Amino acid sequence: MAKIINVVKGTKDILPADSPMWQILEKNALEVFSRYGYKEIRTPIFEVTELFARGVGDTTDIVNKEMYTFEKSERSLTLRPENTAGVVRSFIENGMARLSAPVKLWYKGPMFRYERPQAGRQRQFHQVGVEMFGVKEPAADAEVILLAVNYLKSLGLNDLEVEINSLGCPECREAYKNKIKAVLKPEFDNLCDDCKNRYEKNPLRLLDCKVESCKEIFEKPEIKAVIQSDFICEACAEHYSKLKNYLDELGIKYTENKLLVRGLDYYNRTVFEIKSNNLGSQNAVCGGGRYDSLVRNLGGEDTPAVGWAMGMERLISLIPSLEAKKLDGYIVSNSPAEAFKLAEELRNAGFEVEFDLQNKKFTKQLEKASKVADYALILGEDEIKNNTVSVKNLATSIQKSVVRANIGSEFKNV
Ligand code: ATP
Ligand code: MG
Repeated sequence: MAKIINVVKGTKDILPADSPMWQILEKNALEVFSRYGYKEIRTPIFEVTELFARGVGDTTDIVNKEMYTFEKSERSLTLRPENTAGVVRSFIENGMARLSAPVKLWYKGPMFRYERPQAGRQRQFHQVGVEMFGVKEPAADAEVILLAVNYLKSLGLNDLEVEINSLGCPECREAYKNKIKAVLKPEFDNLCDDCKNRYEKNPLRLLDCKVESCKEIFEKPEIKAVIQSDFICEACAEHYSKLKNYLDELGIKYTENKLLVRGLDYYNRTVFEIKSNNLGSQNAVCGGGRYDSLVRNLGGEDTPAVGWAMGMERLISLIPSLEAKKLDGYIVSNSPAEAFKLAEELRNAGFEVEFDLQNKKFTKQLEKASKVADYALILGEDEIKNNTVSVKNLATSIQKSVVRANIGSEFKNV
């Protein structure tokens, strides 16, 4: 026998038994996001590498370690590790800044990151996300958080933790970064290698470190005091407090977490995550925030923006799995042409119907029907002659004769 080829490490098939869950996630996304005025956008799965280097930030783990990059015709291309950069590129390229604000977009699809595969972490995974362009007011931040919470509710996920923080603007953040660097200087040698790297390039990212020994350092009183200090300027503080007021008014529970800085470089002011206590260490289902300078950094006009992305695999693992749905009917007959005709009639009426394509014996067909369908629709010689169908309810074993012409409207009453 020929050698078997396996799925690539860190990727997974979504098998037929699981796809109904994915369909629910996608259907609810369309329904819920549409109610808030979001339109779906589908951008390519690969983009020029520079888009992510500039759009995600070249101090991030994503750009430094996790990108699937390849060359074609001397161009460097990359499989998208996230979709905000692609959506922003499309926003600029298609002149969406000319549309009346806000421009509200949503997307879903596969993302690619070369990470260590583990529970809740894959190399090809899926995100669903939203982006809102053109509104600097905190009402936009509140609306996207509300939208995330309501999408999760539509999936039966009511008890997740919303964490928020404000990173301020580039101006007020500068002083904070310097204070963090100063207070961590004596500890520099004790930081993990990643944090040593981040110290100069992107000191706020240290606070996000998952390494225990680093977390312990941030707990030291004199260091914690600096981390927890209020550093944001008046305008940023007002923006943040208005956001919190909206969330309070809307009844959205949240906690403030000063260590929440998010992995991507482009955020300013609001950042947030939604976490579950049932996911082990990969506990974030949603991450997002405001990114007012990204459109300009990627060559567009100054356009404020805010958005989020959710990991669909992590959502799936939180939702109880569905029972497999049975067919409405399985036709049992030794006359394939008649079975075909009846099946087509019922399928055109919207029922899920199958019949035997392999000339199996009547008894085998009945056995199959009882496994896969709610009703057996028996078309024997007598039934064909009398223009009837014998309908057997496979849950109750009740069997009745139904006039052939009425089958579509009556078989489910048996
Ligand atoms: P994490 O801290 O878990 O690595 P992140 O901050 O890198 O998350 P984002 O880039 O903000 O995540 O992506 C948003 C969401 O996408 C995450 O909250 C998570 O649910 C999901 N996600 C991110 N990376 C992966 C992955 N490798 N496999 C599965 N889901 C992922
Ligand atoms: Mg990550």
